[in-house]
Amino acid sequence: MNIMEVSRTTDAAAAKRSLNGRVAVITGSTSGIGLGIAERLAAEGAAIVLNGFGDPREIEMTRDRIAFENNVPVVYSTADLSQAAAGQELISFAAEAVGEVDILINNAGIQHVAPIEDFPMAKWDAIIAINLSSAFHAVRAALPGMKRRGWGRIVNIASAHGLVASPYKSAYVAAKHGVVGLSKTIALETAQAGITCNVICPGYVWTPLVEKQIEDQARTHSIPRDKVVTDILLKAQPNKRFAQTDEIGALAAFLCSESAASITGASIPVDGGWTAQ
Ligand code: NAD
Repeated sequence: MNIMEVSRTTDAAAAKRSLNGRVAVITGSTSGIGLGIAERLAAEGAAIVLNGFGDPREIEMTRDRIAFENNVPVVYSTADLSQAAAGQELISFAAEAVGEVDILINNAGIQHVAPIEDFPMAKWDAIIAINLSSAFHAVRAALPGMKRRGWGRIVNIASAHGLVASPYKSAYVAAKHGVVGLSKTIALETAQAGITCNVICPGYVWTPLVEKQIEDQARTHSIPRDKVVTDILLKAQPNKRFAQTDEIGALAAFLCSESAASITGASIPVDGGWTAQ
């Protein structure tokens, strides 16, 4: 194969990418599920806006790697989604840096595990702000542009805890159920505008957030870490396996594709059968 043929093959492969030319904002994408989604959307050709906290040097290396591997623009926003103004900040930053937002993935989230009577009030406020209100603020800022262009994809990352509850996770369960309800409303309001809004409800996915939960639960129940994994975390998950971040990324990419144009208002469990029980 000569250089011209290689270049034509590469161009043909790039043209096949389902999200070529789209701009995707993924909140909380410096680690875990958000990063897995960002990598997958970049592989499908979307320009990427990363967001979240972490070591600035590591974030810059991640930004550079995703851009290089996928030949797409990748930028990073430091917006702190615990603040109501951050939704608009993020969407405006994206428009200026890479273009108007076509795809919004609301993924940023935190967790705290404690009985209700001991649940710190500040943790309740932070979880509701980051896990629920930030999705509202970002969608509110992104929708006018999506409506103007007649195309948009919103994917909200809730949890199996958006569909069922567990003890000691009052704020998280409340916020995630809220995300499911908010997403249905968004779907109805945008149903004729070329925009879809869906929810992914993962069971346990192997990420730093889960790693931290193992420590919290071990402390709350005074049991060793391996017991937390077998007796608590994966107790409700019939397939007894942590999902991987790239599996969530693949579903998000599908929901953002043209093939998913009629899927809206859906909450899709990726939970190894947890919520089938
Ligand atoms: P993670 O801790 O690995 O990642 C969370 C991301 O959110 C990070 O990038 C972090 O910097 C960012 N973030 C936190 N606070 C923020 C703020 N104020 N502003 C901006 N960004 C902020 O967690 P994860 O496991 O990848 O979880 C991602 C999402 O998936 C969360 O909404 C979580 O509730 C949900 N989820 C996770 C699991 C799981 O098993 N890991 C299961 C179900 C749902």
